[in-house]
Amino acid sequence: MSIELTRNFSIIAHIDHGKTTLSDRLLEFTQTISQREQQDQLLDAMDLERERGITIKSHPVSMYYKAKDGITYQLNLLDTPGHVDFSYEVSRSLAACEGALLIVDAAQGVEAQTLANLHLANEQDLAIIPVINKIDLPSCDLPKVHKQLEDIICIPAEEAVPASAKNGIGIEDILEAVVKRVPPPVENEDKLLRASVFDSIYDNFRGVVSYVRVMSGSMKRGQRVKLFHTPNTYEIKEVGAFTPAMTKRDQLVAGDVGYVICNMKSAAEVKIGDTITDNTHQCPEPLPGFKEIQPMVFSGIYPVDSSDFEALKVAMGKLQINDAAFTWQSESSVALGFGFRCGFLGLLHMEIIQERLRREFDMDIISTYPSVIYEVTQTDGEEILVDNPCMLPEAQAIQEIREPIVRIYVMTPGDYIGDIMKLVMDKRGELENTETIDDVRVMLTCTIPLSEILVDFNDKLKSMTRGYGSMDYEHAGYKAGKLVKMDIMIAGEPVDAFSTIVDRDKAEAYGRHLAAKLKEVIPQQLFVVAIQACIGGKIIARESISAMRKNVTAKCYGGDISRKRKLLEKQKKGKAKMKAIGKVNIPQDSFIKVLKSG
Ligand code: GDP
Repeated sequence: MSIELTRNFSIIAHIDHGKTTLSDRLLEFTQTISQREQQDQLLDAMDLERERGITIKSHPVSMYYKAKDGITYQLNLLDTPGHVDFSYEVSRSLAACEGALLIVDAAQGVEAQTLANLHLANEQDLAIIPVINKIDLPSCDLPKVHKQLEDIICIPAEEAVPASAKNGIGIEDILEAVVKRVPPPVENEDKLLRASVFDSIYDNFRGVVSYVRVMSGSMKRGQRVKLFHTPNTYEIKEVGAFTPAMTKRDQLVAGDVGYVICNMKSAAEVKIGDTITDNTHQCPEPLPGFKEIQPMVFSGIYPVDSSDFEALKVAMGKLQINDAAFTWQSESSVALGFGFRCGFLGLLHMEIIQERLRREFDMDIISTYPSVIYEVTQTDGEEILVDNPCMLPEAQAIQEIREPIVRIYVMTPGDYIGDIMKLVMDKRGELENTETIDDVRVMLTCTIPLSEILVDFNDKLKSMTRGYGSMDYEHAGYKAGKLVKMDIMIAGEPVDAFSTIVDRDKAEAYGRHLAAKLKEVIPQQLFVVAIQACIGGKIIARESISAMRKNVTAKCYGGDISRKRKLLEKQKKGKAKMKAIGKVNIPQDSFIKVLKSG
């Protein structure tokens, strides 16, 4: 298909505004849907996506649409992941497009997530086509949504296409708008091969399949290509398009969206955002926008049963072949034994990996409290990155600690502003801006340390707004903080799994909380056991567990010796799952209980 007749576009929407339903309607209308079954199979691979109603992997699809002008156009729809953890993937998919449909629910109006992705689309200078979906709903309020579009998004209301994905209303208007308003791709004049990799999947049989948008030149089987950010060169084994199933083609040309298979064995061999070029006729520089993906959230993952360590290691390796954004290395912990320090893009990514370990590999695992990555300037001038609180140097050796900050967008009915501001302040956040969205809702923009929203921020927001609040966030750099390392000592010995980096002013409260939790779960010993929270040797909170009086064997005194032996043996067995912290034996289960309760 000639480049003038190609349109590449994407869909931006808040969850539940109808992206999936609308995509299905577009496929149906263009009769691409006959292949739908195959696509279903493709999607089945990711059960988790379905359950959570999010797209983790993008699934592009090519459609042919005969427009009202009588010409048939090739429309490539690039799906984008709907979660901030994957915002780099979103930005790469958007960079492969010339336009985007912005779906807004006619009853709900503009939501926080719509805005964050819209910012990404604007950075790429995409043509934006607003679609107001669900106009069939009785609660649909078109004038309100029009006003929001003009006020918040600065798009003239008359540009919006009204639609009902459910009832099939407005579908042709949307396709016409794509043809007319999304510009065709433009090829670089030198016609050297430049293909942008916007995603990749790992297939057990074919190895790595890279999803590409060809910006200039062409690519076909047998061609030798190279990438800019990984060292190897490759021979192309196959190129093709998504119809929606992967369908082999002779070649991909400028403007096309499709896939490339070279013999790559692991996801790490191709980096998202990299540029593929011809090895002999190389383009002078890569396409702009490439970033090394950095894990933002770290946590230790340990087998509950230490004999599962090797099996867990194998599972980790397999997951990494699929997912280059997931990192891991071995570590050991006094409390939890041998395990792994893992890095994730964000909390959702962390949950996905943990779920996959449990479901696909049947592993019984426990993870430590999530931590972010800190930038540390030492007094000797050296800069280091710390992803594990245990690795933080002594306080005297530290000049400054900087932590990752995010900008959050919170949309909420005005009544809850007071409560939300209190939550934000509590979490060391700062208000940047307040904007009125409509007669009931406002949008708060705040900056806040990432570590503070990692665990329960979203849940708290949802419950204090009775489910009406929505939020999204983007990364906003690093900022110096009053941060200290807090250790937990049991009977004078530090327990590494509980070391954390906390704000100095919050350390005491958190220390007391942890000490009290541990007191609840650690069984009594024959002597008094002190549980202490310390900062650099100074004790800031303390609990103690009183000594156990009774001797378990006492009641057998003079009695049946075999019963006594049995009892001792039972005790010995119980000890197998004990962790020795100094002279105290603590069931591993106790640590797990505390880690689980947060
Ligand atoms: P996504 O999360 O953006 O992919 O949203 P879905 O396509 O899964 O739609 C979310 C819900 O809205 C589903 O229950 C759909 O049936 C419903 N929905 C989608 N489009 C329409 C529409 O035009 N009208 C109505 N009434 N419901 C719709």
